[in-house]
Amino acid sequence: MSEFVFTAPATPSVAVSGSSSRFPVRRVFCVGRNYASHAREMGSDPNREPPFFFTKPADAVVPASGAVPYPPSTDDLHHEIELVVALGAGGANIDAANALDLVWGYGVGLDLTRRDLQTAAKDTGRPWDMAKGFDASAPCSALHPVSEVGHPAEGRIWLEVNGTLRQEGNLNELIWPIADVIAYLSRFVTLAPGDLIYSGTPSGVAALKPGDRLRGGVDGVDLFELEIGAR
Ligand code: MN
Repeated sequence: MSEFVFTAPATPSVAVSGSSSRFPVRRVFCVGRNYASHAREMGSDPNREPPFFFTKPADAVVPASGAVPYPPSTDDLHHEIELVVALGAGGANIDAANALDLVWGYGVGLDLTRRDLQTAAKDTGRPWDMAKGFDASAPCSALHPVSEVGHPAEGRIWLEVNGTLRQEGNLNELIWPIADVIAYLSRFVTLAPGDLIYSGTPSGVAALKPGDRLRGGVDGVDLFELEIGAR
């Protein structure tokens, strides 16, 4: 057996509610637009576009607690509250009817976005990676197994910043329900245990600044509190 040339990086992981065991993260997929209200606020027609996906590095996942750093190279860091789907099984070309069988559990996360870099990337046809996949760009709450929370298909999804409600929607407003998201994504990549899917955000995305205190949740799943750190 060969050895690594230096100590291999640790496996990124997420806390599991009520357990000392952790959920190992393999890959992080994000749905681009999945609530009609947010699609409209970003200037697209929610009825005409199939879901599209982008990714973040696995080690962009950090606890949605304590201080989350304000990233460098942006003046327009945006919050996007999202239901996080954690897969415990995988496969390719999954039928939507069987897709929820892949789900291990659910959590609540933030798809933090350097909106200024994303807008520039859209304008120039360049990739979104540096707008979406920066360090600590995917805070996530503890995960809750399906045995505890079921497969939430409705429930309020919300985010407060400094005590003011900024984002609010309901899981029943998803353009593509979770089963469809998994089925569609599995046409492009072979999914595997440890994959996380950030399932899209409702309207109300806006800028954050250092020192902002965030409280967000999905009713019936979890809630989190964190603070945006200094630049
Ligand atoms: Mn998002």
